[in-house]
Amino acid sequence: MALERTFSIVKPDAVAKNHIGAIYNRFESAGLKIVASKMVHLSQEKAEGFYAEHKERPFFGALVEFMTSGPVMVQVLEGEDAVRKNREIMGATNPAEALAGTLRADYADSIDENAVHGSDATESAAREIAYFFSDEEICPRTR
Ligand code: ADP
Ligand code: MG
Repeated sequence: MALERTFSIVKPDAVAKNHIGAIYNRFESAGLKIVASKMVHLSQEKAEGFYAEHKERPFFGALVEFMTSGPVMVQVLEGEDAVRKNREIMGATNPAEALAGTLRADYADSIDENAVHGSDATESAAREIAYFFSDEEICPRTR
């Protein structure tokens, strides 16, 4: 299987609770390489654009408010089957339904504040990576 890239966010709740390192450890332990990373505080416009697919959903306003409530870590993860593997590490959207040992089971408090984002397909991964990173900010890993 070819190397793949996916986009990930450590959301404001997990950053505020000092879980960045623990979450990065899970990525690396699963064989996903961090090939770009930065801390950003999303503007309302940036958060609304990122979640545009959800703009008609009842939770959209609360989601944008949460995502702009504090800094986040955004990262590009690279590895075999990276999109699916990251979704597996994350667990279900609702932490109450997330499998034991997943990031959301361990670090999320609710479906509204669920610790991490991860792209759901290779197409959304490419779009989301480009929404946050220029090509020069991404370092391909050779070893
Ligand atoms: P995922 O983040 O697992 O890909 P979705 O793309 O469906 O989930 O939703 C995006 C984000 O919107 C979720 O991570 C969560 O923070 C929020 N969200 C989704 N569904 C709900 C809901 N029913 N109530 C509140 N927030 C929700
Ligand atoms: Mg999603």
